Amino acid sequence: MPAPPEVFARDEGQLLDHARILRYSDFERAIAYWEQLADPDRAERDAAALHDSRSLHLSPTFEGTWALDGVGDPIGGSIVAEVLSRIDDELFEADWAEAKARAGDAVTPSDLARTPAQRRFDALVEMARRAATAPADGKAPRPLFTVLVDYPTLSGRMCELANGTVVTPGHLVPWLSTADFERVVFDGPSRVIDVGVRRRLFSGATRRAVEVRDRFCTGFGCDEPASRCDVDHVVPYAAGGLTVQANGRVACPAHNPGRRKRRARPSGPDPPE
Ligand SMILES: [Zn+2]
Repeated sequence: MPAPPEVFARDEGQLLDHARILRYSDFERAIAYWEQLADPDRAERDAAALHDSRSLHLSPTFEGTWALDGVGDPIGGSIVAEVLSRIDDELFEADWAEAKARAGDAVTPSDLARTPAQRRFDALVEMARRAATAPADGKAPRPLFTVLVDYPTLSGRMCELANGTVVTPGHLVPWLSTADFERVVFDGPSRVIDVGVRRRLFSGATRRAVEVRDRFCTGFGCDEPASRCDVDHVVPYAAGGLTVQANGRVACPAHNPGRRKRRARPSGPDPPE
């Protein structure tokens, strides 16, 4: 998606500075915003083309098996990935408990009855089963995805899914009639204004404030999205730490010392099977 050459020439130095300083995922976001600002109409056309390229093929093949492949647009793909990953987590917990009962406390991922790919397919089957058994008048769970849009935008520029994928404002329009809006007020780049109360666990608006502020695990170099993390205390509750936004942080199971009971799921590419 090249921007106009004169705009690139103007901004090249700044982009190179970003490339040197930012970590990869942040640089990717910076480039996406730069492309939107450099040529908003083109960015919307490109986004429309991405959406048009969505596809799914589920084809019967040899011996009664099915071949499944496809490409998702940023929003639709994120919705499917999020729901599938939640079910996959449930199945992983069940597999782990079963393996532990069999292999004892020394259980390792190689003791699990299913490979990650087998479990992911089973999660898809479970997703279908739940869809088929959902009551016709059932209420769809919300939110399906979270998008961060800054005040001047829809022209001036923060418009990305909570998982960090930059989307164009036009790409969101079809979703707006069914969207829930939350107002999250920042008084600086990293502080959400909220009202803290003395509670044991982060919940409700305070929890959302921390999730929307941090967005990813705050463990060093960790990219685990907030939806797969807990919100825990920086100063532990037992040591007098308050359950307020300023004392909260998003941490994945591996980076959350208070929740060691939950194992960290391996993230990133699947191990070889
Ligand atoms: Zn982490």
